[in-house]
Amino acid sequence: MSESGLPALIRERLRGLPSVESVLVSEAGRAALQIHPRPRVTEAIRRVLTVLRARILAGEGASFSSDALGPALVALATPGLREVLNATGVVLHTNLGRAPLAPEALAAVQAVGRGYSNLELDLESGERGSRFAPLLEPLRALTGAEDALVVNNCAAATLLVLTALAEGREVVVSRGELVEIGGGFRIPDVMRQSHATLVEVGTTNRTRRADYERALSPATALVTKVHRSNFALVGFTEETSVEELSRLCQPRGVPLFVDAGSGLLSPLDVPGAAGEPTMRSHVEAGADLVAFSGDKLLGGPQAGIVVGRAFWVSRLRAHPLSRALRVDKLTVAALEATLRMVQDGRSDAVPARALALAAEPVLRERADALRQHLADAGVTARVVRVEGQVGGGTLPMARPPSWACLVDGDAEGTAARLRTGEPPVLGRIEEGRLVLDVRCLEDRDLGRLAAAVATARERLPGV
Ligand SMILES: *Cc1c(COP(=O)(O)O)cnc(C)c1O
Repeated sequence: MSESGLPALIRERLRGLPSVESVLVSEAGRAALQIHPRPRVTEAIRRVLTVLRARILAGEGASFSSDALGPALVALATPGLREVLNATGVVLHTNLGRAPLAPEALAAVQAVGRGYSNLELDLESGERGSRFAPLLEPLRALTGAEDALVVNNCAAATLLVLTALAEGREVVVSRGELVEIGGGFRIPDVMRQSHATLVEVGTTNRTRRADYERALSPATALVTKVHRSNFALVGFTEETSVEELSRLCQPRGVPLFVDAGSGLLSPLDVPGAAGEPTMRSHVEAGADLVAFSGDKLLGGPQAGIVVGRAFWVSRLRAHPLSRALRVDKLTVAALEATLRMVQDGRSDAVPARALALAAEPVLRERADALRQHLADAGVTARVVRVEGQVGGGTLPMARPPSWACLVDGDAEGTAARLRTGEPPVLGRIEEGRLVLDVRCLEDRDLGRLAAAVATARERLPGV
């Protein structure tokens, strides 16, 4: 809209706004330039002026004040991806970055990331090496598989397996396992993407060995078993085990692929996790390939790990997609360090597992400490026992008991302000009340968390 068409009052107000240049050379502008780089200060001024212009055009009487510059500069200086305090109690929260990394993994990332590394160099021979070399030995030892390959995530691993082994041919899957993993990742869609033909067998609740047997034909490229990682099937159910499927597939030369998801390497002593199979159990039961995530129960960086028979893994490695989906050095570093912890018998010290295993008395004590911090900050809360979740699409039936602070008042309003505060805090709302579960918090976070809650409630009207 041209200014000439506007009422005189609005035109006058718009003309009353300073130029970007004049703010830059003002006292406030020069003070900002002492702290922030020039492009950021310029952008902050632009943003403040844009808001004022919009308000004036809406008929308001707005004028420039240098006070608005501070918040605009803070917003621009804050990284988009940043630390969040997880008071949801969900250990593997996909929206919050899943597994927190072990100090050992972070140290490895730093050591490898800050300089150069032997990522693709065999130091003994001086020849070109494989970036997976440091991961092979631990993955073989921990799963009993002959060979391994690592890609970007488990979804990528599934895509690679289906494309490399079944493109244009048939893949047999149980109707009870045509799952959506989360974030819209649906097994039938991946099949389509890899140009494999899906052959569904059995029913939603029951799939027998005979169902698979009838579906097998010379056109069968692969039999796939998808682990039900994020839901449970109870009642009148029947499924065919990996072992039975292996007995069916092996004599026919058809590879058996298990999309196992969770990446459990050793049993986890959490209520409701008893039946969760380890990756080794799938390999030992005769799966030719097993795919799982690096950042679920393994507790490492985001990655998709495929272990299995050397012949089939080499087929994956030879496919161009494996190059396109390969992981970077930071992932290799963090994953190797995490796998080493597991190999050294320290798997329960890997943060994701340690958090899932946290003892109730420890959690109770932490909740008491949080309540005290909240009281010191002027916020009344009650300590309550709650049911937790491991999350991240794993152990759907596990409800590890936890402890939390229950904060009275406007739960939705407080939660929204906590989310946009500094540091951002994510809690959960249960029966209209704000629940701050302490499972995924560190003792040193409690003071900051309490201060964030107090600030969120100060900004709340009517508290
Ligand atoms: C989580 C999961 C995936 C997807 O794993 P990402 O690493 O998130 O890509 C695939 N399959 C199963 C069975 C899963 O549980």
